[in-house]
Amino acid sequence: MSADSADGELCGRCRPRWLETVPLVVSRLPCVRPAGHEGPHEDAIWQRWVELPPELVYAVAVACVAEQLRRAFADGEAAR
Ligand SMILES: [Zn+2]
Repeated sequence: MSADSADGELCGRCRPRWLETVPLVVSRLPCVRPAGHEGPHEDAIWQRWVELPPELVYAVAVACVAEQLRRAFADGEAAR
C-alpha cells in the first residue's frame, strides 16, 4: 500500500468492453491506481491495460468490418 492509495482516491476505471477477456470477472476489475494517474491502468491482480482513443478503436473496428465485407463479397464472387 502506497501513501497514494491510502487516500482512498482510486482511478476506478474498468477496461473497455473490447478488452474484456475470459473470465469476465477478472477483466472487469477496476483500476486500483491513484485517481488521475499517468500511464496504463492496473487492477488488483497487477494486470495492466491502456485505453486507446475512441476514434482509433472506431477506426480499427470499421477497418475490420470493411475487410470482412470485402471477403464476404469475394467469396460470393468465387461461388458463382
Ligand atoms: Zn487507472
